[in-house]
Amino acid sequence: MEFKKIQVPAGGQVIQEKRGKLIVPGNPYIPFIEGDGTGPDIWRAAQKVFDAAVNIAFNGQRKIVWVEIFAGEKAHRLYNEWLPQETLEAIAHFKIAIKGPLTTPVGGGFRSLNVSLRQDLDLYACVRPVRYFKGVPSPVKHPQNMNVMIFRENTEDVYAGIEWPSGSAEAAQVIELVKTLNKNIRPDSGIGIKPMSPTASKQLIRKAIQFAITQKRSSVTLVHKGNIMKYTEGSFKEWGYELAREEFADQTITEEELLSKYNGKIPEHKIVIKDRIADSMFQQILTRTEEYDVIATPNLNGDYLSDACAAQVGGLGMAPGANIGNVIGVFEATHGTAPKYAGKDVINPSSVILSGALMFEYLRWNKVSKLIQKGISKTIKQKRVTYDLERQMKGATLLKTSEFGAAIIENMK
Ligand code: NAP
Repeated sequence: MEFKKIQVPAGGQVIQEKRGKLIVPGNPYIPFIEGDGTGPDIWRAAQKVFDAAVNIAFNGQRKIVWVEIFAGEKAHRLYNEWLPQETLEAIAHFKIAIKGPLTTPVGGGFRSLNVSLRQDLDLYACVRPVRYFKGVPSPVKHPQNMNVMIFRENTEDVYAGIEWPSGSAEAAQVIELVKTLNKNIRPDSGIGIKPMSPTASKQLIRKAIQFAITQKRSSVTLVHKGNIMKYTEGSFKEWGYELAREEFADQTITEEELLSKYNGKIPEHKIVIKDRIADSMFQQILTRTEEYDVIATPNLNGDYLSDACAAQVGGLGMAPGANIGNVIGVFEATHGTAPKYAGKDVINPSSVILSGALMFEYLRWNKVSKLIQKGISKTIKQKRVTYDLERQMKGATLLKTSEFGAAIIENMK
């Protein structure tokens, strides 16, 4: 494929897809977006960690060939556009990308670049792993019990953007229409629509179950508010169980079957499908944290739950994430550009580095992911950390971004 400004180095191969599965060569091309603000500081450290982890995991037999692609301020300088078409084409072509944080351009009419990426590439699952690294200050007594992978639906629900203000002609029209269906809405109401379909719900839940199977996790919990919103959230739960029965009958059992047929002991190679009402889930994730593993949830519940889980293990600063579609995956830092620290080599690069760990799991290079997590884990245990953690940890040694990256590499060996 020919690009105008993207330079593809020699020596790599394009990741292929066959029947929805990725076929990853030993020298895959992986595009990266450095990001704005502190993005370049973070990326410099992260890239070295990724290269070292791949090299150690495969004794120099495999190698990532990085391809720089552009979005945000750098794209604006190069193309006079914030999100050039060829960036989207490159991600679709190479199938995987990793990105630093991007500035949301200020001024009317701009969609957030992150939202544009998700919508234009149909990345319908927002994926967030949340686990604890020993030594990170946390507000709970047993943060180590948290190890969940949250799959949040990314395209529907009250986030679909279908809403009209109180007093508008459109709101009045909807209120009139609803009256003809024998339902009353107070006349001065603002209106928002919450669409949820079996198509979007099932494709999200399918991803969560497939992940649980390939990564040998124990359960998938459907989190919904179906006792109140029966035909959206309630249906999400029903569609989830239906999908498990129709497509994963051999690999899954329900929680009810676990108790009635298996005496509460999960049989080998089976995944338990269970569901929780959202409010109860917020209690349980605090009080019975270890009972939850993979979580599949509609958009709004997922938004709240992701941050609540991250808070339990010490905040959002280290939380990685990804937006995934049928095949394409874009892995990213979940924090912003922290512009006041740009170019100072002080910021914590863990979020992008852990997004990379997630990316390697997605490529099924689990060895690489494990090495990265081991490196971070050991470095934090040694209390050698960047400023954000150092200021909260007694007796810690303050490291620069680049030094923290180097310490992670040292600790992988
Ligand atoms: P932010 O960039 O996340 O920074 C807010 C504060 O969080 C920082 O000042 C810093 O706190 C702390 N922080 C964030 N990342 C950190 C890291 N890696 N290591 C240590 N501390 C970190 O949020 P913002 O200032 O609201 O947003 C700035 C820009 O980023 C905006 O243009 C926004 O649109 C964009 N943004 C992009 C994304 C994305 O691309 N995914 C996400 C969110 C925001 P202290 O000053 O206390 O040290």
